[in-house]
This record gives sequence, structure tokens and C-alpha cells, in this order.
Amino acid sequence: MSTDPQDVAPAPRRSIAVISHPDAGKSTLTEALALHSHAIARAGAVHGKAGRGGVVSDWQEIEQKRGISISSAALQLRYGDTVINLLDTPGHADFSEDTYRVLTAVDCAVMLLDAAKGLEPQTLKLFEVCRTRGVPVLTFVNKWDRPGKDALELCDELEQRIGLVAAPVTWPVGESGNLRGLLDPRTGAVTTYHRAPGGATLAQEEHLAPDEAVDVLGADATDAIDQAGLLPAPDVESFLAGRTTPLLFGVALTNIGVRELLDAVLRFAPAPGPRTTADGSDRAVDDPFSAVVFKVQAGMDRQHRDQVAFVRVVSGVFERGMPVVHAQTGRSFATKHAATVFGRDREIVETAYPGDVVGLVNATALAVGDTLYDPEGPATRFPPMPSFPPEHFVTARAADPGRSKQFRKGIAQLAHEGVVQLLISADRGDGEPILGAVGPLQFEVVTFRMEHEFGAPVRTQSLSYGLARLATDEDVAALAGARGVELVTRTDGTRLALMRDRWVLQALRRDRPTLTLPELLVSAA
Ligand code: GDP
Repeated sequence: MSTDPQDVAPAPRRSIAVISHPDAGKSTLTEALALHSHAIARAGAVHGKAGRGGVVSDWQEIEQKRGISISSAALQLRYGDTVINLLDTPGHADFSEDTYRVLTAVDCAVMLLDAAKGLEPQTLKLFEVCRTRGVPVLTFVNKWDRPGKDALELCDELEQRIGLVAAPVTWPVGESGNLRGLLDPRTGAVTTYHRAPGGATLAQEEHLAPDEAVDVLGADATDAIDQAGLLPAPDVESFLAGRTTPLLFGVALTNIGVRELLDAVLRFAPAPGPRTTADGSDRAVDDPFSAVVFKVQAGMDRQHRDQVAFVRVVSGVFERGMPVVHAQTGRSFATKHAATVFGRDREIVETAYPGDVVGLVNATALAVGDTLYDPEGPATRFPPMPSFPPEHFVTARAADPGRSKQFRKGIAQLAHEGVVQLLISADRGDGEPILGAVGPLQFEVVTFRMEHEFGAPVRTQSLSYGLARLATDEDVAALAGARGVELVTRTDGTRLALMRDRWVLQALRRDRPTLTLPELLVSAA
């Protein structure tokens, strides 16, 4: 051993995720970020999404069809002397609980908006998770090369709909569809861009001093200065408190505004910090190694049949091969097979620091939310992963009644891993459980794994429910004999009332005024 990594100060870190609605440009922005930070030479190497969608017959096929979003967990970028961990939030048709869970593993989110569309439904859902978890949010308005909303109108939308005050880091010179440059409201300087063809290389920049900018760009420049002046300057404190969002504009497709976004990540996103443990104490980043599992990907590849548990390092230094204790079982294991996952290629990880993501291959005992720690240091355990309100429901049965034992075992295992939520209805019993999910892809995973991994093919049937509410003891009593609502018990003991939609809920409440049926919050339960 030459140097002990513990003695070498690691590069500063930032761990972030991009939250957006499909088509806002997340893949394009990811490529642009990678390009600016020189992690890859040309855009296009990160995401290959040709032919997404279609019939699913094999996990690898799902993966191919949907691009890398299923297998990738994090991209590590070096920008200046800072390492940026960009965690992937699968966010297309494959929206699932995974998407939410990733947000428990980052310190900051970049909310990506399409200039023409503003806040869209999936962005709002993800934003709510950030807010509940106290994850601060930067905002990047993309596609300013296309006609869209007015910049101030977008700021109003942020304030009115989600209570975030926009604090511009950059401001567009020229309305959407006519981007002439980006203003730095702090200095009055403007950067103009000469696009490189195809967007595969960096746009050439020219910097105009404030006087020059007004000379060259005329009223567009003075308008931009006036508009940006109506809004507060960004500051770290109000950003961390969730009151303001540093706001940037750009064109991911031609890499405009992306360097400014990276600078803003360095300036505003907090470095990895201490994490509260289950007993309420803090695990500091310089405490001995500990990590939390935020994603498990298992049994997806028929040839390799492996399982990768992705952990975020919370404290200390991870060194490949070191023994770690799995807090949930008390067992210790060696971490020979540690990898980062970059696209489809795994690279062996030797050392990782707080904020980094490590994929542990074949650590089959690990489930989402589990804790690992260094046996040399004090034991620790982080609170369990929050559960999210399911919106899709199916019943599941063993296709072959002779395999009902395997069926029960498999379903219980998948629920334990957090692939779906397992809901038992008194009417149906545990031979026909209800599975709840945030996105329907979760059911595809169940079907695939039940057949290939547990040898118990399942038949699922969708239910017409789309809304789950918490059922208190009083609610359970008041709902006796009610139609259009089904009471179920989740594995964590929570009782839920399932119904079709808000209208059913309204009707129930009208007929039974004592009902509370509170919202299922994103809880740490
Ligand atoms: P994702 O679904 O959020 O990952 O979105 P993609 O990155 O796949 O982008 C969706 C579409 O928007 C693609 O056709 C992109 O080429 C296009 N797009 C992304 N960013 C921009 C942009 O800044 N300007 C324009 N005009 N198109 C963009």
C-alpha cells in the first residue's frame, strides 16, 4: 500500500439529481453537463435511447428500450477540482418509487423546466419529495431557443404554484425563441454564443462587458437588466431554507448556460454533510465508514443473475475489499465486488468518499434503506427509507397454484426490497395480495422476477383504484359497508383505503362526515 487514502484530503464533492417531466431535456442536459466537465469527450456517449418503448420480454430488453436509465445509478463528473455525483432519476415512462428514493441520496436537486411548459406534473411530484425531504432546488429553464413563456411569467409560476421565489443567476437576453445571450445580473456582463453545428461540441462563447452588451444588444440587454432587477439576488441561506431557487436559463441542446449551471452547483449545493441516524444522533462525514442503500437492482440479467445494491457513502472512506457490517442482519461481509456504474460499463471502485455512490455486486441481503458500517467504528443505523403514496394497483396470484409457497416467498421478498408495496385485503387474503406502485414499471419488474428468480409466474390484474389514503381506526369503523373503497394493510402495518379517485373520496366524505382519511405523506415511517 503506497498511501493511505485516509491521509489524503479528498476532492470536494457535490451530490445532485435532475428532476423533470419527460421531454424537458434531462438526457440532453446530462450529456451537456458531462461534456462541460470533460467526463466524456462528446455528447451522445451517455444516453442511447433509440427505440424506447414496446413489448417487454426480457429485462435486458427493457433496459435497451429505455436507454440506460434503469441500470445506471450515478455519473461522476469532475468540474474544476470538485467531483460532482450526478445521480440518475429514472423519469420517463418508467417513473417509479426508485425515482423518489434517489432523492433521499442527494444534497441538492436541479429542477429542469421546458421554457414552453413551465411546471409539469412529474416535476411537481418530484419537487414535493424534495420539499418534504429538505432537499434544496436550483432551477434551470431549458429550450430558450424555442418560443415559450415569458421569463417573468415563469418566475410568477414558481412563486404562485410552489412558493419558491426565483433568484436569477443568469437571465436571458431576448425572449424565448430569440436567445441573444445570457446576462449575469451581478455584474451586468453578457455572454453570447456561437453555436457549434449539431450541438455535439461546446458552443463558442463571447463575453461582453456591461457597456458593450448594451451597445451590441440594445433594448434586449436593458430589458434583461430591468427584469432581472425585479427579483432578489440568489443567496445560500434562503436557498437552503427552501424559500428561493437560484434560477438559470439555457439551451441544453447547444450547451448554452450549462457551464453557469455547474458553477451554480458548486456555489449553492451543499457539500455532503452529517446524516441523522435512527436514534436521533448525527453521523458526521469524518466518522468511520457508513453508507445507506438507496437502490437495489436485482436478477435482471438472465446471464449474470446478479444483484447490485447502490449505496451512498455517508461517512468515512470506503475502500474496496474492506469488511462492512450490514446493520439490519448484524452480519459482516467483504466488499470485493464494488463498482461504479457509468452507463452500462462497470468500473471497479477502489475508494469512495461521502456523497459518492458505490454499487455492491451480489450483496443479495441488502434492501433499500439498509445501513452498512465499518466494524472497527461504532455501530449505526439510518432511519428506514420513506414510503411513497402508491397510485397504481394490481392483484397478483400464482399462475400455478402448486407454486403458492414460492409465490408468497417471492412477493414478500420483492416487497421487502421495496420493488412494490404489498397490501393485504381482508376480503382477498394473502393468496391474492394487492400490489401498489408509484409507476406501472414496478409491476413489470415483479412479473419478470417472480418467473425468473422465484420460479413462480404470476398473473396480475389491474384494479381501477388510483388513490390511497391513510385509514385511521375511526375511518375503518366508519367505512363499514361503504362501496367503491377497499381497506388494506401494508407490510409496515399502515392501513390504507383504496379508491378510484378524488371524486369517490368526496362522495364518501359527504355521506360520512366523520371520515378523515388523511393524505399519505412521503413519510420516514
Ligand atoms: P428527457 O425526456 O427529459 O430526457 O428529454 P431529452 O433530453 O430526451 O429531450 C427531449 C427532446 O427535447 C429531444 O428531442 C431533445 O433534442 C430536445 N431538447 C432538449 N434540450 C433542448 C433544447 O435546449 N432546445 C431544443 N430546441 N430542444 C431540446
